[in-house]
Amino acid sequence: MRCKICNKTFFVQRKLKDLLENQRYFICDDCYKKYKIDLEFNVIPLDDFDLIILSLFKEAYKFKGDPFIIEYSNLFNYAITHYKDEIIICEKNIYIDDKKLELFNNISKISKTSLVLICNVYVLK
Ligand SMILES: [Zn+2]
Repeated sequence: MRCKICNKTFFVQRKLKDLLENQRYFICDDCYKKYKIDLEFNVIPLDDFDLIILSLFKEAYKFKGDPFIIEYSNLFNYAITHYKDEIIICEKNIYIDDKKLELFNNISKISKTSLVLICNVYVLK
């Protein structure tokens, strides 16, 4: 397989019991070590509800495409099973300033629910 970040060819060792399973690998071990996933859970209180932020990284990396799509989709699956009544917003990298906080606040007031933001990384301004 070819790594989606460094473009290096890599091999995945599989065992007999998972040999027939369809598994996808996009990132080599070196890139996994270099770009460490650091799951973070944060809550920003809005006027009546909360903005719940689930992020994969603490710092912003510039990737071509989205090599961490499997991890991102796992985070999304977690969110849709644990936050069934909340609105889920997906963003790759997001800068949260006062205008965006006001927007999230208005969305939560209109929908009368908390918001869940799934992102690679977020930065508060
Ligand atoms: Zn790589």
